[in-house]
Amino acid sequence: MSIVDLGHFGHEAPRPTVSFELMPPRRPDAAPKFWETARRLVATSPDFVSVTYGAAGTDRETSRRVISQLLHGTPVLPIAHLTCVGASREDVEDVITDFLDAGVRSFLALRGDPPRDQPDWRPAEDGVRSSTELVALLREVEAARCAASPSVALRGAARPLTIAVATFPDGNLAAGTSRTQEVRRLWQKQQAGADFAITQLFYEASSYIDFVAEARAAGVTIPILAGLLPMTDPARLARVEELTGVPAPRRVVEALEAEPDPAARHALGIRHSVELARQVLAAGAPGLHIYTFNKHQAALDLLEGVDLGGGAAGDASGVSSRTPDLASGPWVSGTPLPSSEPALGSASV
Ligand SMILES: Cc1cc2nc3c(=O)[nH]c(=O)nc-3n(C[C@H](O)[C@H](O)[C@H](O)COP(=O)(O)OP(=O)(O)OC[C@H]3O[C@@H](n4cnc5c(N)ncnc54)[C@H](O)[C@@H]3O)c2cc1C
Repeated sequence: MSIVDLGHFGHEAPRPTVSFELMPPRRPDAAPKFWETARRLVATSPDFVSVTYGAAGTDRETSRRVISQLLHGTPVLPIAHLTCVGASREDVEDVITDFLDAGVRSFLALRGDPPRDQPDWRPAEDGVRSSTELVALLREVEAARCAASPSVALRGAARPLTIAVATFPDGNLAAGTSRTQEVRRLWQKQQAGADFAITQLFYEASSYIDFVAEARAAGVTIPILAGLLPMTDPARLARVEELTGVPAPRRVVEALEAEPDPAARHALGIRHSVELARQVLAAGAPGLHIYTFNKHQAALDLLEGVDLGGGAAGDASGVSSRTPDLASGPWVSGTPLPSSEPALGSASV
């Protein structure tokens, strides 16, 4: 069974999927907190957890180790983000091979943002220039590996490769594309072999609902998972607006800023987020993908608000009995992590 089948069996209305985005810690001292967050989230039994990957490949090793730890040390299904911007085709093939060798079978294929300080930057001619090309390359590398070994082919048949892609309900504001152009792009990603899509964050249910309607009319048939950022922190909303171009919702930001009590501000943000989540689920969204920015509480409170777990499920007491002690893994005490700031999911989110 692959991810796209999850939650689609039985006679009752299937439960929407739940998934989280995590960003590998940038420094060793951030690792314990990161794994604590991961443990809390994994304890809610999500359908999968996705792990970001820097556009320049700066955190390739960290990303791979985090994925490996999740894959081998927890019951959760990890999805590895992969970017291709600025890398040669050979480099990208190496990274794919590395991840496949580590047992990873699920990927989120992305182009990645271009370097911020180079306005005239163009992708290399010999590179992998879009996520559509990356999806095709993933399928090609897998096919070549299967052709070279019947054992690999058999394992591939038992655990097929699943490839997700990103999609942009209001257009990709950082790239200057419109919704209609992104619908077309999503169709191309589907044709290249994508299994499902995860949306960029959005703050109005109509963004998601209208986008999905336009995508379906254009022949997009793959599931389109709603990506949500819990709206609890006005500073985070402003930073995400800077990174993605998606305007923070003014009325929510003003209401949050007017609330001096941190607990009341958090509760207010969760109420707005729950309302948005309820609207997209009611409109038929197959699940919620939560951009956590490595903070578990808001993600858990949002899930609890829509009756999809969270709350006690992410309680530390339940965690230790259900998941291994992740923080004791070799990764945390191993080689120091790169200290440079990678363009992570935030960049992306
Ligand atoms: C769910 C999700 C997860 C993400 N995770 C990551 C991650 O882990 N790491 C990371 O680095 N990024 C991440 N991103 C950001 C993503 O890589 C960028 O937004 C990327 O620029 C476009 O996404 P794509 O991969 O679908 O690109 P594509 O659809 O392949 O882009 C197609 C074309 O759009 C144009 N284009 C795209 N983006 C830009 C841009 N910013 N400026 C100018 N032109 C552009 C180019 O012409 C490009 O050829 C994520 C985004 C989402 C929605």
